Amino acid sequence: MPVVAVIGAGTMGHGIAYVAALAGCRVFLTDVSAEQLARATQAIGRAFDKAIEKGKCTAAERDAALVRLATAPTPEECAADATIVIEAIPERIVLKQELFARLERVVANDTLLASNTSSLSISAIAAPLRHPERALGMHFFNPVPVMKLLEIVSGQATSTDAVARARAFASLVGKEAIVVRDTPGFATSRLGVVLGLEAIRMLEQGVASAADIDRAMELGYNHPMGPLRLTDIVGLDVRLAIAEHLHETLRDDTYRPPALLRDKVARGELGKKTGQGFYTWEKTA
Ligand code: NAD
Repeated sequence: MPVVAVIGAGTMGHGIAYVAALAGCRVFLTDVSAEQLARATQAIGRAFDKAIEKGKCTAAERDAALVRLATAPTPEECAADATIVIEAIPERIVLKQELFARLERVVANDTLLASNTSSLSISAIAAPLRHPERALGMHFFNPVPVMKLLEIVSGQATSTDAVARARAFASLVGKEAIVVRDTPGFATSRLGVVLGLEAIRMLEQGVASAADIDRAMELGYNHPMGPLRLTDIVGLDVRLAIAEHLHETLRDDTYRPPALLRDKVARGELGKKTGQGFYTWEKTA
């Protein structure tokens, strides 16, 4: 059974720690913020309570899982016994490079170093490592306990053994894995962004209303949610940043952000979090 260290106990990290503990792994969790670590521990407790309500685990299984879960004050202490390290710290390459380089000094030679990055190059994150063959992407989706996909990203130096171990971990924690070569946007962002941007361009050109464009994909293609509503939930600013990154790195006009997206972001219409995007929402932040 893998021993899992999760570095960064925010939105994604606490969810990853939860699914790994539920699956029977020993899990260590850390965060630079002690307050955040305490909040994450509480959130994991609530996630287990919800799982019991839904009949996904028993109270005894929750108690056993919580015994397997521990917090640690530093990334080094967190990762010391780990066979798999998963980082879920902010999306900044220097932070991730520094963290992995620090951890490589304390972990065993065959410990996997996995990044939950949604857009950064795994090969670049692994570049400073002495053993980059152990580094790869394990891209979980939000909310982690619910979303079925694990996008495994294989960097230039990633070994086939590392990918095989990541696949085994995916099935252990109840996820379906896909394996993607380290390219901008991997599979999920690259495809999702195209659909989202095209829907915005169609709205711009007056092809149909936002609700009807969304209904086209929901009812015509069985998507659980239309691309404009999804953009509102992800955040228009987040989508714009990803589109700019893909436009720049893939040098393809498919990813050129439409003027309507830029205008809305400039006006502060960022979607659900600000109460206004392509739809009007009850304000949540
Ligand atoms: P978040 O801001 O909720 O959590 C990040 C946590 O990392 C914070 O609690 C912060 O205190 C902590 N942290 C910062 N530097 C640290 C360090 N050096 N050591 C330990 N902890 C540190 O962020 P998130 O939304 O959970 O995103 C984390 C990663 O997951 C990012 O790379 C993001 O792109 C990716 N991701 C996010 C989502 C999403 O929907 N939120 C989905 C898929 C992937």
